[in-house]
Amino acid sequence: MIVDTHYHYIINMSEKAARSNLPLMMRIANKMGVSQPDPEELVKRAMETWGAGTGEKLIERMDAGGIDVTVALSTDEYPNPIYTTESLKRSNKTLSEAAGKFPRRIIPLAALDPRRPDAVELARLYLDDYGMRGIKYHPDNGFDPSGSESYRVLEVLAKHKGILLTHTSPLNPPSRGKYAEPMLLADIGCDFPEITVIAAHMGGTINWRPWAALASVQPSLYGDLAMWDIFAYNRFDLFCRELRTLMDLVGPEKVLFGSDAPIDMIVTPIEHWVQTIKNLPSKAPEGVHFTKDEVDMILGGNAAKILGL
Ligand SMILES: [Zn+2]
Repeated sequence: MIVDTHYHYIINMSEKAARSNLPLMMRIANKMGVSQPDPEELVKRAMETWGAGTGEKLIERMDAGGIDVTVALSTDEYPNPIYTTESLKRSNKTLSEAAGKFPRRIIPLAALDPRRPDAVELARLYLDDYGMRGIKYHPDNGFDPSGSESYRVLEVLAKHKGILLTHTSPLNPPSRGKYAEPMLLADIGCDFPEITVIAAHMGGTINWRPWAALASVQPSLYGDLAMWDIFAYNRFDLFCRELRTLMDLVGPEKVLFGSDAPIDMIVTPIEHWVQTIKNLPSKAPEGVHFTKDEVDMILGGNAAKILGL
């Protein structure tokens, strides 16, 4: 079973929206090793592949890429006035309806910034009424995931024994890296052990050790491999060594496959990322060993356990 635990559900991608994302796409393409990406081609690809509509397109893409189950999330960029509470409700509702149509394939997480004044009511709406399985946080927008605003949302989430997928890893400004620090999740594992916490990106390809330190002692904390594809494509040997060390320190059961698709797939399709993980036992550099069992755990076995699939 292959489970993508980190997919950005975008309802539709207009040309205007695609063009506004061009700097991000150029950055990703460059990081993925395309030295002179064609901006028009990137806009075209984003328009073709980013919008998931009412779910069927995502299922089509999952089938093409060999993905059995996708954890899909919306995004709340609270400081950006385009993201109103009403627009957030709409996108979370659309995602929950898509998941309702394909309950065995799509697991929906609701984007929510806990600084929204009605965050507690919104959390109840998403979890109780929309039937979503958890919450997606982007603390690097400027809030502490263990702060008091967050805690009132986590109290609701804990009652549902829900999932918290929360961004960790510094990103380009305006992302505030200090709020993306894995150690900020330490209190959550103590005060809400019933919440399954997935640290998106495991702190990042450079700052994964704080995540590993915490994950090695907190049973409810996991991490996903989203964004590590860029690292793997550029510096495969180092990627293998770092992932090996990380798994030796925390155990392979803590690592979940994630893609950051469709955004990260602007240059290379998701099946390429899956294949890169599948190839670890045969392609890792000399002295670095991965087993087929570990690959199966990363690609879906671990996620199946914690998501109850
Ligand atoms: Zn993401």
